[in-house]
Amino acid sequence: MTAATPNPLRAALWLAAQGYAVHPLAPGLKVPVRGCDRCSPGTAERPNSAYVEHDGRACPCHAEGRPCHGVLAATTDPDRIAAWWARRPEAGVGVAAGPSGLVILDVDCHGGEVPTEAELLLPGIELPDDIAPGSILDGRDVLALLVEVRRATLPGCAPETLTVRTPSGGLHYWFRAPAGTQWRPQAGALGWQLDVRAGVSYAVAPGTVTRSGTYTALGDCRTVAELPVWLARDLDRTGHRVRPERPRVALPWHSRGVSTGYVAAAIEAELRAVAEALPGTRNDTLNRAAFALGTLCDAGRLDRAQVADVLADAARHAGLPDREAETAIRSGLTAGTRRPRTLAGAAV
Ligand SMILES: [Zn+2]
Ligand SMILES: [Zn+2]
Repeated sequence: MTAATPNPLRAALWLAAQGYAVHPLAPGLKVPVRGCDRCSPGTAERPNSAYVEHDGRACPCHAEGRPCHGVLAATTDPDRIAAWWARRPEAGVGVAAGPSGLVILDVDCHGGEVPTEAELLLPGIELPDDIAPGSILDGRDVLALLVEVRRATLPGCAPETLTVRTPSGGLHYWFRAPAGTQWRPQAGALGWQLDVRAGVSYAVAPGTVTRSGTYTALGDCRTVAELPVWLARDLDRTGHRVRPERPRVALPWHSRGVSTGYVAAAIEAELRAVAEALPGTRNDTLNRAAFALGTLCDAGRLDRAQVADVLADAARHAGLPDREAETAIRSGLTAGTRRPRTLAGAAV
């Protein structure tokens, strides 16, 4: 028996059944199929005169089942998927990152001139001085360096996650976005040749054949692990996390009832950090916030019981179990109260 013939429809349906939104790619290419005339601007050399400028997000073609605007048309609806691939059985499969709840780390391997400044390799990270000259050649080495600095493990070893090799030798590590978080795509913000597919961007699904080669899932792992906490922190630090301008639900506190002015602003900032903390960082964030506010609890500026209450509310908002929260709050407040902050000159 030979290797299974790639079957894009079967791959698309399998992905959709896992909750991943898919859209068809032009046969042999890694770009989406062309939409209808009204929706396709054409290229600079060959503009399409039938194109009518409009917002692809609100395009009526989607309700009518047309795969216009690429990633914006992505769906998990098996009937729609069957209809798309019945029309173009050779179309490759794109997976829309954001709608699928995915954050895909895209590790490039296209050679090129290696940046000489450490700051350009991994922005914002202090690198060890003993990096052997010539040991960094592409994105895979930069990722290995990041993993080393963070004392983490590379996915593919632990935790296992779906990893796809691209025809150019690059790697796509697929991760689930932690519940309630949103991420944006960027190229090179995390590190040299380290791109992120998230939000309105897509990745080519494993099994897709293009003119340059096949996208192949490595090893046996076909499940997608949650974004590791260490990587989520680095992606957050490098601007990949989308934070809503205002919380979607009203945050459950009224810091004005606790204090005013400078102190209220400090409380607000600490509570917000707790409420928005990522799983895996919640306990630490809560403990640090309790310490910071504990330093303001002396001399009656803040009422310790009230502070403990609002911290508990914020922790609940972040999804931290009450008992865990209580312990972190108590120890943080106690330690903070022993180190009172002086507010000379501050308008309290
Ligand atoms: Zn259209
Ligand atoms: Zn359209």
